[in-house]
Amino acid sequence: MPLHHPNEDTLLRHASRRLPSALSLAVELHLDACPQCRNFVIQCEVLGGTLLENSGEESMRPEALAEVLQWVETEEKPAPKFQPAQTWPASPDGLPLPRALRFCSFGSWHWVAPGMRFSRVIAPGGAGDGSLILLKAGAQRELPLHGHEGIELTQVLSGRFSDHLGHYGVGDLIERDDDILHRPVVDPDGECICLIATENKLVFQGFIARLVQAWTGV
Ligand SMILES: [Zn+2]
Repeated sequence: MPLHHPNEDTLLRHASRRLPSALSLAVELHLDACPQCRNFVIQCEVLGGTLLENSGEESMRPEALAEVLQWVETEEKPAPKFQPAQTWPASPDGLPLPRALRFCSFGSWHWVAPGMRFSRVIAPGGAGDGSLILLKAGAQRELPLHGHEGIELTQVLSGRFSDHLGHYGVGDLIERDDDILHRPVVDPDGECICLIATENKLVFQGFIARLVQAWTGV
């Protein structure tokens, strides 16, 4: 069971289809691995639809959302529905990927820093306002210190890494926003592959990192 989850607000925006499609895809990956967030989203979709149907958006009481969330926390949850994968997706070097990526296409691995490669992920219909990459980093590799314009969602697909706020493994989704500068470091026992979805470009602190960003477009 994952230990790190998207914020409630991000899950609500996903449920109401108001999240950029790149971020929504990262959330979908997390939902595949996390029954807790999956149930939350299912209940929000059902209750959000019912509220809009019954009251109309304009006349919705301000406390309605709090009541929905209270209901979600206390009510028994229905079993999630699964859809079988059409074809099983794989990364550019054949690593099996989660089912939620089955309609995406992937670019080749490109060098981005020593021991790190990225592959651009093309979602069906594009990434909306965001960008989407797979990042593969070797053991003990460190991503340059960076911040964000808007939200960054990192879903761990294999391996483990940490930053100054925690330690993360497969299934975890790490949400960071403009207030946080961080420098993720891969664990010493093996490489780590993550899907990273951002609303806007990352904001690197050092000149070399910004130079690499200018050339690669990450
Ligand atoms: Zn979760």
